[in-house]
Amino acid sequence: VEISFEKAFHLNPFEAEAHSLEKKERRKARRFKRKAESDNRIGPLEFKRSTFNLITPEKLFEQYPDYELYLYQELKSFFEVKSPSSFTVNRVVKLPITHEPGVASNYYLLLVMKREPEYMTNEVWFLGRQEPGEPPPQGFDKKGYTDFQLENLQKTPHPEKGDLLGTINGLDQIPQEESGSVKYIIYQYFQGGSNPKAALRDSELDIIVPVAHQNYSVYYTLVFHPAAGNKVNVTVRRIGKKGVEMPDTESLDIGRVIDFPATGDAAALKAWLKKRYPGVATQGEDVSTIKMSANLQLRQKAGTVDWFKDNYKIYVIQDEKAAKSRLKSATSKKSAATHAGLKSFAENELKFLELSLQTMRPAVLKKLEYTYVIRQTESINSKGEKENWAGHAFHSGGSKYTVVIYDGAFKTSADFLFSGGGQGVHSMDIGTLTHELGHIVSYKSGLLKKFNKFVKDNNIDPITAYAGTKPEMEFFPEAFELYHTDPEWLQTNHPLLFNWFDALSKTGKPPK
Ligand SMILES: [Zn+2]
Repeated sequence: VEISFEKAFHLNPFEAEAHSLEKKERRKARRFKRKAESDNRIGPLEFKRSTFNLITPEKLFEQYPDYELYLYQELKSFFEVKSPSSFTVNRVVKLPITHEPGVASNYYLLLVMKREPEYMTNEVWFLGRQEPGEPPPQGFDKKGYTDFQLENLQKTPHPEKGDLLGTINGLDQIPQEESGSVKYIIYQYFQGGSNPKAALRDSELDIIVPVAHQNYSVYYTLVFHPAAGNKVNVTVRRIGKKGVEMPDTESLDIGRVIDFPATGDAAALKAWLKKRYPGVATQGEDVSTIKMSANLQLRQKAGTVDWFKDNYKIYVIQDEKAAKSRLKSATSKKSAATHAGLKSFAENELKFLELSLQTMRPAVLKKLEYTYVIRQTESINSKGEKENWAGHAFHSGGSKYTVVIYDGAFKTSADFLFSGGGQGVHSMDIGTLTHELGHIVSYKSGLLKKFNKFVKDNNIDPITAYAGTKPEMEFFPEAFELYHTDPEWLQTNHPLLFNWFDALSKTGKPPK
């Protein structure tokens, strides 16, 4: 049996129905039950007794011994899963019960199996009873196993943090078919997944939620905020369906560029294009033709060196020899040892450079002109040792600006996380690029010094953990990145910083 975590999550909750077993099955299940009772890697069935309000497990299995063995059979099949080595599966099991001849009803049990590399634990919950001709227990179709898990988090303190899940706000505002998946995500992140230490508190999660049983994903923002009574409340905000209500974060479309003149006529669009994309040849006389032709050029060329030279005066170095010479003349990476693993950008990676630049206004783009961009597998120091960086930005010789991007910049968590909100959604893969370009901007016009004075004067603490590691260097690019990739978050949580970067973005200068 190869069952993955994801597959288990998508299991139809009603698909398991307990039944009487074949002789051979019964023998195997009995053997596994004995093993579970003696082997502490598995453990026997653990009944959540407080939920067994209609019948005790003993009474139930006295009448239906095969049903108990059936549950052991389920345990056995998941215990035998080799990969992944840790997961949680939830099985809703229907048990047909005959109370008197000819009168049948169903009991529903929830079997939760938590597999760790070395052992497996389980919990058995009694969910309810369904009378003949009646629908399943009240609200049961809406109330899935995740609800039971969430209710448990509301009653039992978190093992690491010692707090409880509080109220979840906003679930009533979202489509019914999405709520199970959203609740599941809340469960996962409140718990901390397989690492309870990493449980989210007082933070905002921008996550792409794949909707169970549906063929689409939805952008959601989940805000975890500590509340009275040692509780953590969660606010659910639906941003929109990916690729339908909101664009795919990776799609190339000039309509997504900041300050795109969405309501302008053909003349306004032409004027904007000429300024924003000097390398694009405007074609057509009406808005839709002009836009279509510009998008065609964008999609054809955004993976090329010329695109960045013609539109931004940014120089992407794809040639190893040229990269080495630039590193020697314009960075601290001078020795041959530091040049190992130089390579060219893949087309797709250059697309992320374009997507990063699309978040910036002309006054900021101006400051990025004559920046050279180099691609290397990973950072190597002068002793030939690997360093764990995603990117570097260098300023030397008065006017030489160079960015080096490493493998770590891409595909970190871009498949399930995003940044932004209702005003725009962005791929996580533009994060490092935007941060490094932020360093370059900070080197211009004494901006770094002005910013550091501003945060000092206003007693603003670093807003990310990384900014805190070296605030005088890293606070600026971290805030710069957030202003461009998640302006709504910055505006809500750090309005002073937002205003500072907003002025910079619009005028090229910090506020007076
Ligand atoms: Zn940095």
